[in-house]
Amino acid sequence: MKKIIHDYTKEELAEEIKPAFRAKQIYSWVYHKHADSFEEMANLPKDLRKKLTEEYELHPLERISRQESRDGSIKYLFRLRDGHTVEAVLLLMKEAEYHEDGTLKHHRRYTVCISSQVGCKVGCAFCLTAKGGFMRDLSAGEIVSQVLEIYKDQGIPSNHRVNLVYMGMGEPLDNLDNVAKAVRIFSDMDGMSISPNRQTISTSGLSSKIERLGKMDLGINLAISLHAVDDALRQRLMPINKAYNIASIIEAVRNFPVNQRKKVLFEYLVIKDVNDDLESAKKLVKLLNGIKAKVNLIYFNPYPGTDFQRPDPEDVRRFQEYLLNKGVLCTIRESKGLDISAACGQLREQKLNEGVGK
Ligand code: SAH
Ligand code: SF4
Repeated sequence: MKKIIHDYTKEELAEEIKPAFRAKQIYSWVYHKHADSFEEMANLPKDLRKKLTEEYELHPLERISRQESRDGSIKYLFRLRDGHTVEAVLLLMKEAEYHEDGTLKHHRRYTVCISSQVGCKVGCAFCLTAKGGFMRDLSAGEIVSQVLEIYKDQGIPSNHRVNLVYMGMGEPLDNLDNVAKAVRIFSDMDGMSISPNRQTISTSGLSSKIERLGKMDLGINLAISLHAVDDALRQRLMPINKAYNIASIIEAVRNFPVNQRKKVLFEYLVIKDVNDDLESAKKLVKLLNGIKAKVNLIYFNPYPGTDFQRPDPEDVRRFQEYLLNKGVLCTIRESKGLDISAACGQLREQKLNEGVGK
């Protein structure tokens, strides 16, 4: 099989393709001009274009489905070269705004949610991605291509500032080397220029990998999927808690190098009658004592076959108010794309049932 061009950092490409400055030109064609073929890379010599066409893949992902939600979010399903499928979501965070004289204040603000694996090994009880088991890791290029394909599909210029969240399918820290490489490829100034401080890695809490990620000092933001404040409940929801309990996660977070102006995000999936009580909110405040933390409450998004239920909005607000009153920053994640079933794995599941992908 051909080598995926997006698997290469610019430095690696410069090793393979001489003279080295060609790597910068290729990056520009791929990530700025969104070239559809090597043939159109006009400033490369003809024989190099031929070699690239023969040896490298420029389209490792094929878009097989796209669902638009009423709030402007778009969910994509991509087919990989081996037939497996992964999801990515473009979230419209804010419409463009203009000054009174009509000049642009800021363009549309987007966040792209990307997958890091086909399936997931972690096996959380509430997660649809977990139900299908684990297939394989994505390569760095397959991670990068999700964003690139979305830019191309939506005509998003390469100089737009977007945020990336590794919150799609898979556990990013279970595929740390490829994810770290993707972070670097995304942030290359000759490529997409998505700075690490606009990229957030979300993890179910593999403490030893959090430590390793910290040592890499990539400059990314960290999000922890906490979801429960005592080990017994967390273990029931997230079996990984047996190997890495809450205390070990908190310890790893304390050691994590966080940008001065940033906070660690704690995601808390609120499930009706499971973890939506004030006693939990109280314990959460205690747990986060002394950590520069921000809590994001997420409504559980139900799907056919699950016993868990969406919480009552009043309970979620009460939970939030308790935290705010104690001085803990807390937001409620809007259920973006709820009408297109945005929780991870749901579009893939639907298409698998229709016999599309694997
Ligand atoms: N594996 C990583 C990142 C991908 S999951 C992690 O667990 O952090 C991204 C987020 O989606 C997690 O916070 C997860 O708890 C949440 N999630 C999973 N299933 C969900 C559902 N049915 N409704 C709402 N959020 C869900
Ligand atoms: Fe994997 Fe995250 Fe789903 Fe848990 S919530 S099974 S870690 S993708």
